[in-house]
Amino acid sequence: MPTTVAPNSRERVAVLCARCHAAETALVVRTEHLCRECFTKYVTNKVLKRLESNKLRGGFKDPQKTLLVPVSFGVSSIVLLHVLDQQLSNRAEAGRHAGYNLRILFVDQSAVLEQVSPHDLLNLLKQRYPSHTYTVVSLEDCCDYGVDFDKPGFAGTLADGRSALDKPTRLKHILSSLPSATSRADMIEILRRRLILAFAHRNACDSILFGDSTTRLAEKTLSETAKGRAIALPWLTADGSSSDATNSTYPLRDLLRKELGAYASITSPPLTPFILQAPVQMPTSSKEATIDGLMTQYFESVEQNYPSIVANVLRTSGRLVAPSTSEGTNACAICGHPIVNESWGGDQVDSAAPQLADSNGSGHGKELCYGCVRTVWKD
Ligand SMILES: [Zn+2]
Repeated sequence: MPTTVAPNSRERVAVLCARCHAAETALVVRTEHLCRECFTKYVTNKVLKRLESNKLRGGFKDPQKTLLVPVSFGVSSIVLLHVLDQQLSNRAEAGRHAGYNLRILFVDQSAVLEQVSPHDLLNLLKQRYPSHTYTVVSLEDCCDYGVDFDKPGFAGTLADGRSALDKPTRLKHILSSLPSATSRADMIEILRRRLILAFAHRNACDSILFGDSTTRLAEKTLSETAKGRAIALPWLTADGSSSDATNSTYPLRDLLRKELGAYASITSPPLTPFILQAPVQMPTSSKEATIDGLMTQYFESVEQNYPSIVANVLRTSGRLVAPSTSEGTNACAICGHPIVNESWGGDQVDSAAPQLADSNGSGHGKELCYGCVRTVWKD
C-alpha cells in the first residue's frame, strides 16, 4: 500500500538496535538488528577474540610480537589492517603497551595478472596507516625465497636452456605451459603463499595474519578438495603452524564477506577507496573459468540467504587433522607441503608420472604431491 509519510518524517518508527536499545538500526546481521556502533564492536570483538585465543594480543609483560599482514586490496585484508590499526591507536592513546607491531606485505603480481598497478593505492594506505612497516615483493621473487624453478614440475617445460631468462619471463613460461586456467590460478596462489610464508620466516615474524573471511575459507575448503589438495586443508585453513612451522592465523574466520563489505563502508572515512576487488562476474569463455572462480560465485549467492551453510562448511573442515610427517618426509617441489602417503590418489599419480618425466626420461612422482601432479598434468 502506498504511504504518504516521508522517509525521514518523525512519524517513521525506528527499529532500535538489539544490543544497546538506544541507537537506530543500521543493518541486520544474521537476523540481529544492530546500530553502527554495535556492529563495529561486533566486528572488532570477533577479530580480537581470535588474536587472544592464539595468544597474539600481547599482554603487559609479554615481549612485543611482530605480526605480518599480507595486503591484497581485497575487502578482507583492508578491514583486518583497519581493525588492528584502531586497536593499536586505542592502546597508544590510553598509554598502554602496544603488544605487537605490524609488518604489511604486498605481493606485486603485475608480471602475470592483469591488474591496475596498486602502487598509488599503497602510498595512500601508508598515509592513512603510517605507523607500520611496508614492503612490496614481486611474485617472481619467490625464487629468492626458496622456490626453485629448476626443480622438476617447473623445469619440465624449461629443459631447453631457458633458465637463462629473467625471473618474470620464466614465471610467465611456467604459467603458460600449464594445462588450464584452474592450474594457472592454482600455481599463482601457491607461489604467492610460499613467498608470504618465507618472507615471514626470514623476517622473524611471530605469525602471519591472513585476511580470509568465513566465506573465503569455505570457498577454499571446497576448491582445494576439488583440486585434489584436501590433505593440505589443515595447513591452508586452520590457525596454527603450517607445514613449514610458520604460524598462521585467520582473525576474520568468524565474519562473512558481506559483513566485511558492510564494515568497510561504515567506517569514517570509509575504506572503500582502498578496495580493488572486482565484482564477481562470469568469465567470457568456459576455457577461462576456474574452480576458484566458480566457488566464489557459488558462495556469493549462498552467503546472502544461508550464512549458516557457509559457517558449516568451515566447521566441518576444522575437524580435519594435519597428516603426521616425520623428518625424512620429502617436501613437494611446487607447493612445499610434505608429500604424505596419499594412497587414495596413488593410481592416478602412478599413471601420471611418465607424462611428467623430465628431459632425461626419469619420472618424478616422488617430488610432487598429488595436488601438484594434477596441476601440471596434461592429458
Ligand atoms: Zn604440491
